[in-house]
Amino acid sequence: MNKIDKIYEGKAKILYTTQDPDLLIQYFKDDATAFNAQKKGTISEKGVMNNHIAAKIFEYLVSQGIETHFLKTLSDRDMLIKKVSIVPIEVIVRNRAAGSMCRLLGLAEGLHLACPTLEFCYKEDKLGDPLINEYHIRALKLATDAEVKKISQMALEINEHLKKFFLKLNIELIDFKLEFGRYHGDIILADEISPDTCRLWEVGTGNKLDKDRFRRDMGNIEEAYQEVLRRVTA
Ligand code: UDP
Repeated sequence: MNKIDKIYEGKAKILYTTQDPDLLIQYFKDDATAFNAQKKGTISEKGVMNNHIAAKIFEYLVSQGIETHFLKTLSDRDMLIKKVSIVPIEVIVRNRAAGSMCRLLGLAEGLHLACPTLEFCYKEDKLGDPLINEYHIRALKLATDAEVKKISQMALEINEHLKKFFLKLNIELIDFKLEFGRYHGDIILADEISPDTCRLWEVGTGNKLDKDRFRRDMGNIEEAYQEVLRRVTA
């Protein structure tokens, strides 16, 4: 399978068409952005690490019965995926308070939430991906009620699987972001799951093994991603 035309370039990935109209190649870049792209940089070999980490996570989720766009790893930075139409909603699942939830509600970082908390954001970079609710989704026709129900169920189910997956690696899943796609009338998990899109804290030490090291200039960013890769592939 070869790359033919570039059809989309995002902050961290590029999508290419292939000979098969139903399949795309997702290429992982080293570029990193934070705070709605106000902070930009690169994380050396991030694309390689995230491609392999995301592949392992997708393979695990598939083994647990979750439908995803992932088909196979083609090279260090290339992943073969099903071509979906992305639902323009970012779905965030939180187990402990961090990031924007702390800012929004004045919570201490790390507060244990009484239940996993779902948030929806409108996927629109120029607005900074604002927080929205199910009424906005219905009013703007971003997704049908049935799609929102399916997406919510899948997101919570994925959270349960991923919490277990990471805990076995001595990592606590604090929060993460998901994107879903429409594929032949169905909703499937798309995009990526990696240290770019999750908050991952080492159990015991509380060490951050995710993009917060880049957001907050904490140093040892590559080492943190490398450590996640080492554990997921061990
Ligand atoms: N997240 C992401 N992409 C985004 C926004 C958030 O992958 O465009 C992830 C982020 O890495 C974290 C979770 O979603 O794991 C919740 O992010 P939050 O809303 O706290 O935003 P932040 O504080 O990162 O701006």
